[in-house]
Amino acid sequence: MKTRDRLRVSEIFASIQGESTTVGVPTVFVRLTGCPLRCHWCDTTYAFSGGDRLSIDEILERVAALGLSEVCVTGGEPLAQPACHELLTALLDAGHRVSLETSGAISIVGLDPRVRCVMDLKAPGSGEADKNLWDNLQHLRAHDEVKFVLADRTDYEWAKDVLERHGLARRATVLFSPVAGSLPPALLAEWILADRLPVRFQLQLHKILWGDTRGK
Ligand code: SF4
Repeated sequence: MKTRDRLRVSEIFASIQGESTTVGVPTVFVRLTGCPLRCHWCDTTYAFSGGDRLSIDEILERVAALGLSEVCVTGGEPLAQPACHELLTALLDAGHRVSLETSGAISIVGLDPRVRCVMDLKAPGSGEADKNLWDNLQHLRAHDEVKFVLADRTDYEWAKDVLERHGLARRATVLFSPVAGSLPPALLAEWILADRLPVRFQLQLHKILWGDTRGK
């Protein structure tokens, strides 16, 4: 069935997944344009504007041409474009395994239950902590993931408090990651170990491999 919905797309490319529980897996990334947030440490500011308006069928064709079953829809903030939901379902119906990287500032209600949602809750160091939509936590499924990108000890204490208050580790996989160039990775690893936190420490693998190269 042909669809008339179009989305503004910043880029579509194949790379190695650098984050989440599928880290290391060859993945096609569909990066949608636009984001209502402005995190201090954002590394995809080029996706705030521009891109091409593509139909869902055109996106499916470009994804298929890259020859991988794993697909990650990211941004920007992909849910800022309502047709993102239709895109996710179309990718799943085409036989892909699909994850969604979202800021947690837009409701995930109505998300296709087959999508693995990776929700990036914003710590104070991002400058956008007041945008977290806390109701979203009620809608997490066991296969979803919550990510905290932490700039300093204040962010770490904040994340630890959120983790405990919301019983997050019982609801989803929780990921703690340091802001590159701000929080030394080994220090964050030591804090997690000292507190025996039930979280997964991670570094952005794609940055270790390729730095800030766009399309990687
Ligand atoms: S939500 Fe993501 S894309 Fe938007 S400003 Fe923050 S880091 Fe950048």
